[in-house]
Order: sequence, then structure tokens, then C-alpha cells
Amino acid sequence: MMFGIPDREILSTGDDVTFSETADAVSLSSLQPIPRMLDEGVDSITVSKTSANRYRIEYFGFLSGHLRTTEDGMKAFGKTILADESPIPAWVLDSATAEVPWWAPDDYEPPAPIECGQCREETPVRSILTPLESADLPYVCRDCWDANNRN
Ligand SMILES: [Zn+2]
Repeated sequence: MMFGIPDREILSTGDDVTFSETADAVSLSSLQPIPRMLDEGVDSITVSKTSANRYRIEYFGFLSGHLRTTEDGMKAFGKTILADESPIPAWVLDSATAEVPWWAPDDYEPPAPIECGQCREETPVRSILTPLESADLPYVCRDCWDANNRN
């Protein structure tokens, strides 16, 4: 099982990635709200429809590769990847992806912007960081984090 897709819906897997996205490809990014956190997983995923009831999922990061799956596999994928409803979910759809894809859970809502604890700017979740040491500032934007850590 990978990305919540049951083995019976995984048609093939491989280590190679082509970067050949179709026009309607959907991309997702893993959020890394803790600066300098060592990441040994997958940073981004691209989903392309290759033919009727066939989808290719490419993943990139410390681990890279691809797998091919079906519509049922995509539904399981969406339920797993987009299930996190916390303020900063583990995965977000890339902003270039205009619409929520059909395989997202029915009640899926893209995460709302979060107010930076320092400059009070409404900030997209993908630009929010969660500093480890200042518990009174749970969320800061990237600019404030950089300013605080310049010296
Ligand atoms: Zn800020």
C-alpha cells in the first residue's frame, strides 16, 4: 500500500520519473512548517490521467518514483492525502491547480490562510512556519522567520 492506495489498485510501480505532465495534471506539495526539519519522505506529487481509468502518480523528494493506478485507487489516494483537516495540513494542492480534483474527499476544503503571529499578515499555509522554540508564536510567515533568524 502506498499513499493509501490498496495493492490491488496499484498496476505498476517504478523508480523512474518522467516529469512529463499532461495539461490537466494536478500537483500537491508537502508542507514543512518546521524549519530545518530533516525530511526523508516525499516533497511533491504530480497526478496525470494517462487514459480511461488509468492514472500515473509521480512523487519526488528523498524518495522518488511513480506508480500507476485506477479511479478507485485515486479515490483512496485523495481520501488519504487530503484527509488532514488541521490548520496546516500535511499536503496541499498547488496554487497552479485551479480546481479541487474529483478524487478529493467530498467535503474537502482547501486550507484557509493563517494570521502571522508577528506581522499579523494573513498568510497562505504554504508560507507559514512553526518555530520550535517560541511557543507564544506558533505560526509566523516566512519573512518574519527570516528576519528573526538573520543574526
Ligand atoms: Zn509575518
